[in-house]
Parts: sequence; C-alpha cells; structure tokens
Amino acid sequence: MEKVPDSDFTNNELVLAALGYAQLGWPVFPLHTPRVNGDRPCSCDDPKCANAGKHSRIRQWPEKATTDPDQIRALWRKWPDSNIGIVTGHRSRLLIVDVDGQEGAVSIAGLEHQHGSLPNTRTVKTGGGGLHYYFVLPEDVEIRNSAGELAPGVDIRSSGGCAVAPPSLHKNGKRYVLQESSIDPAPCPDWLLELLKSLETIATWEEMFVRCPIRKIWEASCHQFRTSNHAYYHPLFDLWWRT
Ligand SMILES: [Zn+2]
Repeated sequence: MEKVPDSDFTNNELVLAALGYAQLGWPVFPLHTPRVNGDRPCSCDDPKCANAGKHSRIRQWPEKATTDPDQIRALWRKWPDSNIGIVTGHRSRLLIVDVDGQEGAVSIAGLEHQHGSLPNTRTVKTGGGGLHYYFVLPEDVEIRNSAGELAPGVDIRSSGGCAVAPPSLHKNGKRYVLQESSIDPAPCPDWLLELLKSLETIATWEEMFVRCPIRKIWEASCHQFRTSNHAYYHPLFDLWWRT
C-alpha cells in the first residue's frame, strides 16, 4: 500500500486538499484506499471489491459529508490515506461531467460539434485516464446523477452522486490530478442543462411506467391472452400489445 506523502499529519496532501475543497463550499468525505500491490484491491478488505478506492468509508455520506475543518481533520486523522470524495449536486452546486476513455471522448466531441464547445473550466485528469469537467449548477436547478444516459462513456455526477478528487489514488497506482488549477468551475452551459433536463423528464416517465401497478395487472392479464411469441391481444381493451 502506498504511504501517505508525509508521515506528519499537517503535511498530509490528502487532508490539505480536502480542507481546500471545503473552503470552496464543497462537502467532502473519506473514501476507501486502493491497495496497488496488495492481494486485496481495497482497504475495505473485500477481495472482490469492484470499486476499489471509490466507495465511502462512512455511512450516509450524502448527509455526513462536511465542510467543517475540524470534522475533516478528525476523519483523515482516523484514516490518513483516505481518498477524497466530493459531494456533487445541490449541496456543492457542482455538476461534474465524467468522461471515460475513448468512447467518452468521442461522445463529448460529438456533443460539442452539435451544441458548441464546452467552456474552459476546472478539469481533473482521473487516475484511470478519464477527465472530470467541473461546472457550477444554477441555484434553482437540480440534475440527478446518471451513468451513460447522456451519451456512451459519459456519466453525470450531480444530485445523489460524488466524484473522486485529486490527489486521490487510483487502483492502477496513478493519482487524480488537477489539470488547470487557475480556472474556477465555469457555469454549466445552457445546452448541457437543457439536454440533462430532457433526460430527467424521460426518466420520470419511465419510472412511473415501471412502478405503475396498473401496468402489472395489465401485463398479467395480457399474458393470458398471449397469441404469439411477440404479441398479445387484450379483448377487454381491444388492444394489441407488442413486445
Ligand atoms: Zn472496496
């Protein structure tokens, strides 16, 4: 397991970075630490941990994440090599576009071609080789977390989500690095907000449909009137249902 850069806690780069994020108003919480050369991939000790160094050490992190310096020092004193999670969404007003690999890069290029370039903003190179673009959400807008819904290889870290922040360690041994330190997060571009809001509407309708009890009754009754492999007829509603 990699050592913390300095054994002296006051020079612990992780806690210093966490305190810096808190000063910007971004609530932070400790994440587990990947074990780069260990037989177990993560400090959670699960030999099959699929999320090494990316999941919380504390319960209820969306609420317990904090901007209080004393609490932050106490958390990192307990686990000095913890990776850093920043809460996204309404608590920090941050929306982070997480672009993963070649697939994500192609998706972003396509979106920029269609809607215009993303503005210069705070950008982090992830330990896994992806990019995190930090944007500020308008006060009255809430966008939910989503994975791959906007475009393949592009995740949105917003309400209900978090992002691993520099100088956290990736399981491959690389650290998350701030790309353009002088640039504050830019306001989230309008076109991106509009696209994400439209996803929101679709998701809500889908959710209603999935949860709707009438649909379950409908499907169950359709089943009885199944006439072929791919179509049902419901005599009560005089309707065909295709699958
Ligand atoms: Zn783990």
